[in-house]
Amino acid sequence: MTPQHPHLAGLLSLDDALEKMLAQVSCQRIATRIPLASAAGHITAAEVTSPVQVPPFDNSAMDGYAVRVEEAASGQPLPVAGKAFAGAPFDGEWPAGHCIRIMTGAPVPPGCEAVVMQEESEVTDQGVRFTAPVKAGQNIRRAGEDIAQGATVLPVGRRLGAAELPLLASLGVTDVAVYEPLTVAVFSTGDELQPVGTPLQPGQIYDTNRFGVRLMLEQLGCRVVDLGIIPDDPQALRKAFQQADAAADLVISSGGVSVGEADYTKTMLEELGEISFWKLAIKPGKPFAFGRLSQSWFCGLPGNPVSAALTFYQLVQPLIARLAGHRDWQLPPMLKAVAASGLKKQPGRLDFQRGIAFTNEQGELAVRTTGHQGSHIFSSFSQANCFIVLERERGSVAEGETVTIQFFNALLGG
Ligand code: AMP
Ligand code: MG
Repeated sequence: MTPQHPHLAGLLSLDDALEKMLAQVSCQRIATRIPLASAAGHITAAEVTSPVQVPPFDNSAMDGYAVRVEEAASGQPLPVAGKAFAGAPFDGEWPAGHCIRIMTGAPVPPGCEAVVMQEESEVTDQGVRFTAPVKAGQNIRRAGEDIAQGATVLPVGRRLGAAELPLLASLGVTDVAVYEPLTVAVFSTGDELQPVGTPLQPGQIYDTNRFGVRLMLEQLGCRVVDLGIIPDDPQALRKAFQQADAAADLVISSGGVSVGEADYTKTMLEELGEISFWKLAIKPGKPFAFGRLSQSWFCGLPGNPVSAALTFYQLVQPLIARLAGHRDWQLPPMLKAVAASGLKKQPGRLDFQRGIAFTNEQGELAVRTTGHQGSHIFSSFSQANCFIVLERERGSVAEGETVTIQFFNALLGG
């Protein structure tokens, strides 16, 4: 066991924090039916079953000829009795000893036993001859082969995205039962913060956290109530907390959660609600507070922009998925990669460094650091495509060692 620095004693591990958080919350959302056209990003509140079978009718998988197997196999040329197109079926008489010209997607005419692809046929003056053996059923896509009528196509708790919406559209589904989106109130705290567009006085900086937090919330399908920048003043903070609590299902602040003299977030949470935990054994992001207010859940992100983005990503994102009813949400998997550069680390906290993953000359998954990993170096996020996840007890990593990486998902542009 590596001796731990006293300030690391009693810190909650990320896994324990997640477990503690997720054990307390559940989805309490109301279900509503909304048109498919406005359902993107919503989460299914009921199983979706197919009102129809897909494909709706037996149809051709090839451009070629619809045949009866025995006639096609006879070696005799078969005159063409008509044509079947996608959207324009053949509806005439199909005399014995004939074939029907058919295109991909066209309904196969009644009595058709196989479709022979054009490349296996020869057009002669007497009709079409087939140059390869013909098997019953070949090149016919059967009705219901993809989806049977009444089959479950989406479970409860699935987010409707580019894979799901076209699927529902293909079934002719017009509306879908989804959960009401979560309402999330956000504010930044700090006397030094100014909104962009305002000239900075000495000692002031721009409020960057709300830009990232708001965007990530929107990407997660939440409604955002933005309460702006709140000064480090208990009175003003109390008002913001109360306003946010009344307006939202979840309240997210940034800053003021550490142990400095102007850090009131924790005090407010204690006064107006209940703290569940507020110190994590992760880097960056040690001071992250979770708890509840009278009507809503509360997450206090650290003020440092890298810490705020990281704790949002690793902790708030799974919390929101649970609250919003998104059952099959998960982060990208942890992968093994070769460290292409040395990485500095102190044992004691799980470290999420920002890395650039690539395939090296040996064809292996490798990763290099984005450079300086300070929690104020926000540019590291936009250079990176993954986290390098260094275990809690691990020290510095030498070039060539195996490390764990986790690619960014869409929230961080992955
Ligand atoms: P705090 O957690 O309030 O002690 O803040 C830690 C550091 O993050 C300080 O350097 C703050 O100035 C900075 N910080 C806090 N909130 C923000 C914000 N919204 N945008 C940019 N930097 C911030
Ligand atoms: Mg502050």
